[in-house]
Amino acid sequence: MKQKLNPEQVKAIQEKLKNMSPDELKELVKQQCLFCQISNGKVESKKVYEDESILAILDINPASRGHTLILPKEHYQILAQIPEALASKLFNVVNKLAAMLFDVVKADGTNIFIANGQAAGQKSPHAVIHIIPRYEGDSVGLSWEPKKGDEKELDELQELMKGKIQIDVKKEQPKVVEKKIVEEEEDAEERLP
Ligand code: ZN
Repeated sequence: MKQKLNPEQVKAIQEKLKNMSPDELKELVKQQCLFCQISNGKVESKKVYEDESILAILDINPASRGHTLILPKEHYQILAQIPEALASKLFNVVNKLAAMLFDVVKADGTNIFIANGQAAGQKSPHAVIHIIPRYEGDSVGLSWEPKKGDEKELDELQELMKGKIQIDVKKEQPKVVEKKIVEEEEDAEERLP
């Protein structure tokens, strides 16, 4: 059982936290975060993929056979805090691992699951993406009761959401990028003395 702190101890801790710089606070969170400990090798894990910024491990308490966790090595609390380039790379890794799982564990389907925030069921302070392989007739509960949407509310939501995000599609087209590089190289040559 955890020992209960007396009011003076609580006050002392609060005072200490108040005087910490953002960097010191970040460091403290990292020290307490299981996935940071896994990322820096202080806690062992069943790694299935690793590069300089991303780690994929088997969940040791799986929802189903092959349940895999993909995480940025750097500590981010929720997906929205992850830089765009890293988020793209994360999803690329997730997509490839999910495709591989169909083959390796003969899954009939996969759910890609992210819990952003406590209300969504997030249990660790480190952003994690789950791949949960699904099998016909399994008992994994990831379903909800669809209810008929209110037309007026849907219209209002559409109005609130439409046009609010910008994705640079051109950046995603390798052809365009290549052309740009070639043009820049030509420019560079012209500028040479
Ligand atoms: Zn962490």
